[in-house]
Amino acid sequence: MQHFLDFNQLSDSGIEALLKQVLEYSHQPADPGHRQILDGRVITNLFYEASTRTRVSFEVAAHRLGAEVINISAGGSSVEKGESLRDTLETLVSIGVDAVVVRHPQTAVLNDLVVEKDIEIALINAGDGCGHHPSQALLDAATLITARGSLVGLKLVIAGDIRHSRVARSNIQLLSRLGVDDIRLVGPKQLLPDECPQNVSLMTEDFDIALADANAVMMLRIQHERMGGLELPDTDDYHRRWGLDKARLMLAHPDCVVLHPGPVNRGVEMSNAVADGSQSLIRSQVAMGVSARMAIFDMLLASAGAGQR
Ligand code: ASP
Repeated sequence: MQHFLDFNQLSDSGIEALLKQVLEYSHQPADPGHRQILDGRVITNLFYEASTRTRVSFEVAAHRLGAEVINISAGGSSVEKGESLRDTLETLVSIGVDAVVVRHPQTAVLNDLVVEKDIEIALINAGDGCGHHPSQALLDAATLITARGSLVGLKLVIAGDIRHSRVARSNIQLLSRLGVDDIRLVGPKQLLPDECPQNVSLMTEDFDIALADANAVMMLRIQHERMGGLELPDTDDYHRRWGLDKARLMLAHPDCVVLHPGPVNRGVEMSNAVADGSQSLIRSQVAMGVSARMAIFDMLLASAGAGQR
């Protein structure tokens, strides 16, 4: 069974094909012709953590391809009675579900499960703890390509709580595989990884230095739910040193675009003027999220479905 847990499951040509499909869907995501693609298939959203954009866009994506969708959140399901993720998945297999989109607070929970046991259902990682969030990175790459024409020569700054960010990890993994060789990380020391990750050209606490000549800045939220007792600067100090406002954005290249996976904490990592300004791609990212998730379902289920029918 093929799963989508992080980009290690995909070859370079697989990544290229997936990205191409995202961009194709983005031209006409609501074309009624797409509804044949997953007609009769059943997809479950299984979310153990809060989500707005990711959950809704997986749901809309599944509907656009003609699949039925069932939403399960931890509250109100047998998870509340102590059922393990593995038992919940086995239950969904027996019911006849084709794919499960899982968000879970435990890092690598799905990778560990599939190593332990063959799960006869397509698993899609919608964010695992501090691990990966591959559908977010896919939509970010597609948004950047759409805005800029290509990723060639891109200088990308990822700013904020890198240490706990699955978005940063997946973006570094994907964008470096796509040839982006200038990725810079910036944030307060306690929110940076202990060591500079592979494929990162600079890691610094100085936002102004990191921004020099940058073409894209990806801002991240402080993941308060994963802090585990780390001391943080107060909000004003954080905004002054690591927040993005109009004046600081002018230190980047004039063509610089601004991304954020959401939810945005306005006035902390980003000012209103930047979040809503002409360089912001935040709304385009959200829109691209549906096409990205359509392409993922298509990759995992459409050819398998053709074989089964
Ligand atoms: N929505 C993203 C995630 O689930 C980023 C965030 O929560 O800050 O990782």
